[in-house]
Amino acid sequence: MPGCGLDERLIALTEQLAEANARADEWRNQAEGGGSHHWNKLYRAECLQRQDDVARIGAEREAAEARAAQMFERTKGLTFNEFRSANVARCLKWHPQGIASWSASDWLTAVTGELGELASLLKMRNRERDGLPGNKFSPTNRQVADELADVLTYLDLLAAMLGVDLGLAAAKKFNEVSERVGFPDRIALQPEPEQSKEKEK
Ligand SMILES: [Mg+2]
Repeated sequence: MPGCGLDERLIALTEQLAEANARADEWRNQAEGGGSHHWNKLYRAECLQRQDDVARIGAEREAAEARAAQMFERTKGLTFNEFRSANVARCLKWHPQGIASWSASDWLTAVTGELGELASLLKMRNRERDGLPGNKFSPTNRQVADELADVLTYLDLLAAMLGVDLGLAAAKKFNEVSERVGFPDRIALQPEPEQSKEKEK
């Protein structure tokens, strides 16, 4: 799955596994020639651990790829822009005076209201985890997904009201954070046009 960093981790682990195997072979040769069985055992244990890591991360990557493929199949890779377009068009039916008829603070209140609904469902899940009474129902995955979607819908309207391209902002910030912490994960972006560079200053 591009950008998730699993490929890089898998490659690094595979290299480490090859090194550990080479060290184990070297020590086995020495052990056969009267060297230390103790070190040979340690390196063998390291190899087994590396094999487990490689298998685990390989399975994690396959699962991530399968999830991404499944998601793409349903939404055909829905973009931020497509979502924004439908979201604002529908919003104008509620707010015929325009999206700016609500302030940023009004939209933010709507976002936090939806976050509260999401938090309430997750609180119920925490109670279930801890075997505590008090839940009126058991939150389903669908209910949790619905509240996440409500958060996104209002967050997108807040961004629209503020004139923020949410997809672009998310990608730029993602890349900035990766750069700062030294991770290789990047989201590909087209070069920035000169005029918008000027505008941002
Ligand atoms: Mg809701």
